[in-house]
Amino acid sequence: MTIEQIKGNIINLHNELPIGVKLVAVSKFHPIEALLAAYDGGQRLFGESRAQEIGQKHSLMPSDVQWHFIGHLQSNKVRQIVPYVSLIHSIDSEKLLRCVDAEARRIGRIVDVLLQLHVAKETTKYGLTIDECRALVDNGVTDELKNVRICGVMGMATNTEDEAEIGREFHEIRSTFDVLKDTHFRKVDCFDTVSMGMSEDYHIAVAEGTTMVRIGTTIFGEREY
Ligand SMILES: *Cc1c(COP(=O)(O)O)cnc(C)c1O
Repeated sequence: MTIEQIKGNIINLHNELPIGVKLVAVSKFHPIEALLAAYDGGQRLFGESRAQEIGQKHSLMPSDVQWHFIGHLQSNKVRQIVPYVSLIHSIDSEKLLRCVDAEARRIGRIVDVLLQLHVAKETTKYGLTIDECRALVDNGVTDELKNVRICGVMGMATNTEDEAEIGREFHEIRSTFDVLKDTHFRKVDCFDTVSMGMSEDYHIAVAEGTTMVRIGTTIFGEREY
């Protein structure tokens, strides 16, 4: 993609997405010029999946950019991202949640996070089962930790052509959010985010009630790993 195309893609997506659906531009593996083109198109939320890359790009981009961590996060990388990150989408264990809380406390921050749900058929995708997620909340762990704010859930659908299956999985993520919102998080205003939908399936996610899509390839083109 050229600089002009990237800028145009951002503008088109902002026009296309319904009010209430935030766009995270997934810029992993793309050079800073591509991110600046998206910034020029009005984009401020960027998603990265590697701790080192967020650290490098953070210092090169304007300071009003918000950095989201969307990939699998290892405990030993938490320290690298906690100073810069505005939302971690991928909390997939109690251990990781405690680790982020401890590091945030150490540097005097409160970090916003989402609980990642595993609903896809692939065993390679990370995340909590719906039961594990409920247990984490019901056991009081999320209340006990004062330096993380639980802002919602995130999930990925199976990589399949079967749109009905993708729709069912997104529906399950949204329903889990709704149950949590109606019970434990009823009075918690910041619990308002359902992060689901990528380049191939964001239309379905919008239909199923996403509030935040994470789009890379549609904006920046194919990644070169
Ligand atoms: C890479 C990635 C995306 C973006 O995927 P595209 O297909 O390029 O839109 C979204 N979410 C997560 C968790 C990712 O790792």
